[in-house]
Amino acid sequence: MPDAQGGRPAPIVAVLGGGQLGRMLALAGIPLGIGFRFLDPSPDATAGALGLLVVGSLGDETALARVIEGASAVTYEWEGVPASGARFVAATGTAVLPPPVALDVAQDRVREKELCRRLGIGTPAFAAVDDRADLERAAKELGPPAVLKTRRGGYDGKGQTTLHEPGDVERAWSELGAVPLVLEAHVPFDRELSVLAVRGRDGATACWPLVENHHVGGILRRSLAPAPSVTAQFQAAAERLIGKLLDELEYVGVLAVELFDVHGELLVNELAPRVHNSGHWTIEGAVTSQFENHLRAILGWPLGSTAAIGVNAMVNCVGDLPAPDAVLAIPGAHLHDYAKAPRPGRKVGHVTISAAHTDELRARVARLAGLPGVDVPA
Ligand code: AMP
Repeated sequence: MPDAQGGRPAPIVAVLGGGQLGRMLALAGIPLGIGFRFLDPSPDATAGALGLLVVGSLGDETALARVIEGASAVTYEWEGVPASGARFVAATGTAVLPPPVALDVAQDRVREKELCRRLGIGTPAFAAVDDRADLERAAKELGPPAVLKTRRGGYDGKGQTTLHEPGDVERAWSELGAVPLVLEAHVPFDRELSVLAVRGRDGATACWPLVENHHVGGILRRSLAPAPSVTAQFQAAAERLIGKLLDELEYVGVLAVELFDVHGELLVNELAPRVHNSGHWTIEGAVTSQFENHLRAILGWPLGSTAAIGVNAMVNCVGDLPAPDAVLAIPGAHLHDYAKAPRPGRKVGHVTISAAHTDELRARVARLAGLPGVDVPA
């Protein structure tokens, strides 16, 4: 066990998943004297450079037992972690945070929406779809247009299809059918936002400013933080919404909630019970990053301020990474290379650009346009 804290044994955090989120947790935690262990199916998992990597499936009890050895807390960086694996760990007496119930909810789009409904939180109108007759019925009630999604396992726009007209039922059913589905009314949103908050072991909470997100082909490409044109009341509404979820789930750690802004009304699209891509800006753009606060929370340490510093844009590098010198020539730019092999559609890094005001930010972000892997929406 490392001995980094004035003679006290340094805490060890075991992370289920070893992708870029795990890597950035370690990059935040190592300066605090935290040691890391990761479990990932790939021997090339990028977080492996920053701690001990156990190679194995996230539901494999032998691998889980190995990775949690000596850990003060166990967390996860992917909401697809089998909840049974998280419960196996919890049964050994090692804290698994966020609590496994958050995985149960976030892994099932219907449970997610039912929870929101019970807490008085807005969601798109929806219906569970288990067979073709359900889909016919729901399509008449909710659309068109309507969005058909798999209840489980969808991400980055995968596992979903839009019904534009009544005749689309057949196509949509053959595209996605034979697994549990949910049909959602298509929401004519003005913009997509996310809210991230952290809850400590003592129940203290802190919320970062709302973030505005822009997607291309279902993949997050750019986040602006704080989101433009957000009043104090709107921010407070988002904080109440996420606060209800945090308290209900007796949550510990960072929770991200993806939202639709429909003429000033907030509807929940989905929950991510982990640090989130739309929170990467907090590394340079907030007093305390989502990664550091997640670790503080799960270790029972005091939370840090979530206040923003200036205005920030986070741009994902997808499929390719710009050359460091091209990025670093831009004032206020910070490059994060995930050390992952480039592949079409794969997030291989991100750039955060900070500025004092929005005009300056816009001009700086425009300088990223055309660089490899960067798609900056207008
Ligand atoms: P998801 O995988 O649920 O995050 O959906 C991916 C993207 O599809 C979202 O970021 C939205 O742009 C769009 N989308 C999802 N659900 C709806 C909906 N009910 N109405 C309108 N657009 C949606």
